[in-house]
Formats: sequence, C-alpha cells, structure tokens
Amino acid sequence: MIMTCKQVAKALAENRYYEMPWNRRITMFIHIRICAVCGRYHQQVIDMQKGIHDYLEHEDAGDITPTLQLSDEARQRIAEKLKKEK
Ligand SMILES: [Zn+2]
Repeated sequence: MIMTCKQVAKALAENRYYEMPWNRRITMFIHIRICAVCGRYHQQVIDMQKGIHDYLEHEDAGDITPTLQLSDEARQRIAEKLKKEK
C-alpha cells in the first residue's frame, strides 16, 4: 500500500515518526525513498524528530554528548511539549 504525499505530510504532522507502528513507518519510508517531490523535505522532518528523541534519551541516561546543541530554554520547551502530548 503506497501512501500519497498528502497522507505522508499529515501523518508526520500529527505523529512522531519513531512512535508510529512499524508497518506505518515502512510504508512511509518507501514513499520517502521513491518520491522526489516530498522525499527530501520529509527526510529532514524525520531526522529532526529523531535528533530530538535521541537528545532527550541521552539526557535522561546522562551519557553521551548530545548531537543537538540546544539552549536550556529550548530544551525545556521541547521536553514540556513532549510531556504534554503523551
Ligand atoms: Zn511524496
């Protein structure tokens, strides 16, 4: 089942990529790979979401230096937003 560009955009706007069911991620991944129109844009959105996710995980674990450099204020805002959405 191939998703349309509109469906991919909607799904990414409403959900975080890494929280979607695996079958949904695969369908989306395939679309992004084969679609020259929205592929590049959505790849950036996914990378950004993953980056924030990784950052928060590492911060919780207190290990590795995060790959994203955010100010304390920006980090706080993201953390609060994520908490509220859960
Ligand atoms: Zn597309």
